[in-house]
Amino acid sequence: MEKKVRKYKTQSFRCKEIQIPLTRKELKNLFNYRIPCLCCGYEMLHPDIYMHLMERKELGGKASDVIKILEPFENIMHPVERQVFNMFKTMSVKYPDKNLKELLEMKKDIHELALVKIQSSIFNKVSFYRRILPKKMARQLRKLMIKTNDIIFDPEPHKPFSRRIFIHKLKNIIKNLENRKIKEEIIEIARRLPRSSDEVCAFVVKNTRKRPEVIALNLIHPSIGTFEHLQPKSLNGMNNSLNFALECAYCNNSRHHYPISVQIEENPYMPENAQKQTDKLINLSKKEICKKAYIENLKNVLFILSSQQIDLDITKLYEM
Ligand SMILES: [Zn+2]
Repeated sequence: MEKKVRKYKTQSFRCKEIQIPLTRKELKNLFNYRIPCLCCGYEMLHPDIYMHLMERKELGGKASDVIKILEPFENIMHPVERQVFNMFKTMSVKYPDKNLKELLEMKKDIHELALVKIQSSIFNKVSFYRRILPKKMARQLRKLMIKTNDIIFDPEPHKPFSRRIFIHKLKNIIKNLENRKIKEEIIEIARRLPRSSDEVCAFVVKNTRKRPEVIALNLIHPSIGTFEHLQPKSLNGMNNSLNFALECAYCNNSRHHYPISVQIEENPYMPENAQKQTDKLINLSKKEICKKAYIENLKNVLFILSSQQIDLDITKLYEM
């Protein structure tokens, strides 16, 4: 019991020492001002607006009604989601009474075939490296490819294929490979595997398994504004605005606990997009909606955690 009290005291003492630039409420308020995502640069949606959308029961119903509800959000949809939304719009003219799941089911076969074609051509390219890898690695790669082919050629796989897990396993197999050039080549090829965020066919295949209201929300979900832990929580990253960046749900979820340098590998335009967001925040700081200290801290933390790849220019912050 005594120990607990002491712990509490140290914590509250620490909080007084460090100045936290923005409260959670102030940080969340920024989503009212069309902030671009730190990583992908797309404009984000205020999370409360999404919460209201989640309550709309009509999303599970007729496509024609769902389209009317989602139309105001078309401009913040990410590109693939917008393409799928337009596909729904076209289909709902012919089948206004079907729900979104029924519409996707009509398209599933053709998109699944397209997806498997893209995936298998990439897997072939990866498999080629069995010829040049050291024996043990080549054997492990063969095993992985057999398992993967089993999943993608099975029309009803036990577990759907996961791009993320595949790349993770592949990286593990070649982690001790001395030839860096070949190592990078293999990973670069694997990264070309489509994600539901960059190929309509991958979106359709992934979402046909979902309920109609979930499909509707998934068109919007990637765009929700979130707090990204710059230093991951798993590495003792702080849970306040000294360690929070504003990122869309898609980028936040796809980073997992990986370091920012890996996030930049997957998103080469991240340094430019981070600058775009910072310029917007600087503008808001002139209107006293964002605090200078938050932007200064963001610059420092990003510089360190990205191994200097993100070097924000904040000189405008000091111009009158
Ligand atoms: Zn993003």
